[in-house]
Amino acid sequence: MIQDLCGENTCDADGCERGLTEPQLVFDTDAGRRAAYECACGAVTVTVVRSESTR
Ligand SMILES: [Zn+2]
Repeated sequence: MIQDLCGENTCDADGCERGLTEPQLVFDTDAGRRAAYECACGAVTVTVVRSESTR
């Protein structure tokens, strides 16, 4: 699943509210920077940080 980054990351899995700190994987796309976090429960949460417009 993809969720917008709102300053705080939490696990996407149902019933899991663990906070996510260090992304295991970060990659840049045209839409922004994506970060994949692997939670202790085994779920992977992907966040997108939209680039601020430079216009
Ligand atoms: Zn979790």
